[in-house]
Amino acid sequence: SETTTARLIREEGLHVARNYDPLPVVVSTAEDVWVTDVEGRRYLDLLSAYSALNFGHRHPALVAAAVDQLGRLTLTSRAFHNDRLGEFAAALAELCGKDMVLPMNTGAEAVETGIKTARAWAYRVKGVPDGAARIIVAAGNFHGRTTTIVGFSDDPVARDNFGPFSSGFVTVPYADVDAVEAAIDANTAAVLVEPIQGEAGVIIPPDGYLRALREVCTKHHVLLIADEIQSGLGRAGTTFACDREGVVPDLYLLGKALGGGILPVSAVVGDRDVLGVFRPGEHGSTFGGNPVAAAVGLKVVELLRTGEFQERAATLGRKLEGMLSGLLGRGLTEVRVAGLWAGVDVHPSRGTGRDVARRLLERGVLVKDTHGQTVRIAPPLTIKASDLEWAVEQLELVL
Ligand code: PLP
Repeated sequence: SETTTARLIREEGLHVARNYDPLPVVVSTAEDVWVTDVEGRRYLDLLSAYSALNFGHRHPALVAAAVDQLGRLTLTSRAFHNDRLGEFAAALAELCGKDMVLPMNTGAEAVETGIKTARAWAYRVKGVPDGAARIIVAAGNFHGRTTTIVGFSDDPVARDNFGPFSSGFVTVPYADVDAVEAAIDANTAAVLVEPIQGEAGVIIPPDGYLRALREVCTKHHVLLIADEIQSGLGRAGTTFACDREGVVPDLYLLGKALGGGILPVSAVVGDRDVLGVFRPGEHGSTFGGNPVAAAVGLKVVELLRTGEFQERAATLGRKLEGMLSGLLGRGLTEVRVAGLWAGVDVHPSRGTGRDVARRLLERGVLVKDTHGQTVRIAPPLTIKASDLEWAVEQLELVL
């Protein structure tokens, strides 16, 4: 007879669009780094919902903040003020060293908001003729799934059959600052970049790239927009991946872990001379800046303020790098690690990244493949060293 897992997957498949192809596990409960499926089996979560669960599943302080707020006020819309948004925005702006926050919900919305900010800034501050603003993006980028964003993706699976697309984007190779400078002209509003490319497979640019990019942007009066939606908030061993090179972008795009793994919370953070371009009525979101999001987001900022999670990511990341490097030539062809975030390339003789993910699932480890041969490893930053060691042992066994 059919297992509960098989039944639930079959039933889900009847009415849910096939825009994902999940691994065959049905999760029903979770605590910190461990999840339990409907059969009662436990798995170590090495994906963290694409880094939305940096603080683990159901972090007690984050759940408490959400529950407390649910008992008071959940939504006003921004037609009225709520008593939580101001404090959250002040704390987040301070964490970023910036003046202002524009709250949204999903990562893609933060990216769209960053694009609108850059365009309005170009017309109102830089003096670019209306409609002519251009934004430079990197090959291999992943910034989300809206039609504008997939329009400047170079992944055919993301783009094909979803056009027509918005114009005004120019693609240059990733980690090539000369190509960026060559692409800049008088109408360039911004350079939009992931400081480390996540979905591309944790692609870490050479040291000095972000600093050089910052200099080029400043020199040509072009905004540097850092999409830190996946790389930020502790993942890379620092509050922001840009901190690894001491670089401060003009706009931070944040999401994922900003909602503490509880609800979608995203934001664009910048100084008044940039984010101040918006006038009332020009942009918004029914749920953006809602009181529950603000309460959880504030607690996330408070957790990050201690530096504890960044430190754990850096320390455990060095350990992870050491362990994974030991598998080079023994099933792995390349290992890239930044903080507690790794992309490992599987030798084709061991199957695809998806095959490895399936075999790890059978051994109680959840990971996600990306781009064929790559497996991404991004545990909650709360993981114990012993659990991390166990997970890498499982990887060694399946390779
Ligand atoms: N930007 C980056 C760098 C991401 O990794 C993602 C999601 O994976 C997004 C944007 C889009 O975020 P969301 O899925 O919340 O729209």
